[in-house]
Amino acid sequence: METKLAVPKEVREVSDALQAAGFEAYLVGGCVRDLIVGREPKDWDITTNATPEKIQALFEDTFYENEYGTVGVVTKSDDPKLKVIEVTPYRTEGKYADARHPDAVHFSDSLSDDLERRDFTINAIAYDPASSVLVDEHGGREDIASKRIKTVGNPHERFEEDALRMLRAVRIAAELDFVIDAQTAEGIAAQATQLEKISRERVRDELIRIVQSPRPMQALYIAQKLGILKYVIPELEEGIGCAQNQAHSFDVFEHLMRSLQHAADKEWPLDVRIAALLHDVGKPATRVWSDEKKDWTFHGHDVVSARMTKKILNNLKFPKETTDKVATLVRTHMFFSDPEVVTLSAVRRVIARVGRDNINDLLNLRVCDRIGTGRPKAHPFRLRKYMSMVDEAMRDPVSVGMLKIDGTKLIELGEKPSPRIGWILHALLEEVLDDPAKNTHEYMEKRAGELMKLDDKELRLLGEAGKDRREEEDAAAIEELRKKHHVN
Ligand code: ATP
Ligand code: MG
Repeated sequence: METKLAVPKEVREVSDALQAAGFEAYLVGGCVRDLIVGREPKDWDITTNATPEKIQALFEDTFYENEYGTVGVVTKSDDPKLKVIEVTPYRTEGKYADARHPDAVHFSDSLSDDLERRDFTINAIAYDPASSVLVDEHGGREDIASKRIKTVGNPHERFEEDALRMLRAVRIAAELDFVIDAQTAEGIAAQATQLEKISRERVRDELIRIVQSPRPMQALYIAQKLGILKYVIPELEEGIGCAQNQAHSFDVFEHLMRSLQHAADKEWPLDVRIAALLHDVGKPATRVWSDEKKDWTFHGHDVVSARMTKKILNNLKFPKETTDKVATLVRTHMFFSDPEVVTLSAVRRVIARVGRDNINDLLNLRVCDRIGTGRPKAHPFRLRKYMSMVDEAMRDPVSVGMLKIDGTKLIELGEKPSPRIGWILHALLEEVLDDPAKNTHEYMEKRAGELMKLDDKELRLLGEAGKDRREEEDAAAIEELRKKHHVN
């Protein structure tokens, strides 16, 4: 079957070199699928009957450092997607005793074997760029045409071999806007518990791709329905059927899904998307009925959600930087933003708390939160007005680094290196947050001189005032919750 697909010259050079040396060489997997769909491939994979040693011998610059036989062929391209073309010998896979790793990887001399081991029909099409022939032994093109994700072979067996494939199905459906075929979906529902065995890192990587896709809400609903969400972020399921106060049209789960979807619609970055997904994850644990208000209350849900966010992201092995940032966004998402009442110094404190680099993400999180309630407007007048206050406050010093004094100067003034330096700087920052006009060399040095005379106890109290106040608020909120239910 001849079909002309647009293959970059760097890729073509690799397949040509293999074929010129007498080997078979086919493009395979995601790149063929994407070319047929009309999407730009993320990377280029070639499969061949040459062994890793033979592949390496054919190219100037290669590397081979994995147990799957994949050789990276380094090209001269500047395009990061074409810098390395992965060439993998035909493989068959042995049994997967642990639902994770094949017990053994065997090379094969048959393309058919290689296509058979692949996860989905749409990923099991090979393409020979020299003859423009597509090898499609599992009906992949038909499934692409009908936008269907179907396993190669029996779904139960294929998911039993490698449980991550269940999450891959949901992810690929979200990326391509495909549906999961009924039998494949049944297989997922039946094998869902196997996902527990998969390493958190592999789960995380698929979750990231779901969240980064254009349709994360749809994907997570499907994951939930098929029973695999509880092996990704079980805490989210506590929000199902958890009704909210009258300001909301949706339960906590749907609110989080809609918030995340808005972040995706806006193409906001991963951190904002994950913060949107988790910002109210602690609501079910903090929900208390108020007879007075005749409504549900969620006091301290920002504190509890931030703690849960940390736990969830740590568990999924997200980098500490991401975890800390997302938890801070979640912790701060309830910031008071009524521009009629809020003071500039309060706005500065919000910025100081999330950091100048994150304030925009925090404002976007607020937009997601509002849209997620089912209210229509993303930027109501009041939020826009608040944003202009943020712009104004961004000109003022909001961190120790922005003070007209630093640790070196304090030492020059006679302070010895010790934690006292940090306390002095933070005490000065507290004053400057209230009144930026105080941030002059003269005032800073004069005031530092006074602070240096304080004993450790007094100084620490001042220096840690801001931080302590926050921690006290958090502790009080959690204490109150503990009394009400038994939350940790
Ligand atoms: P993308 O390139 O968008 O990440 P992809 O489908 O290429 O999508 P990769 O992870 O790059 O995904 O995998 C390349 C190919 O390897 C897949 O198309 C599929 O044929 C095969 N494959 C990947 N993971 C598995 C798996 N867990 N089980 C079976 N086959 C797999
Ligand atoms: Mg790929």
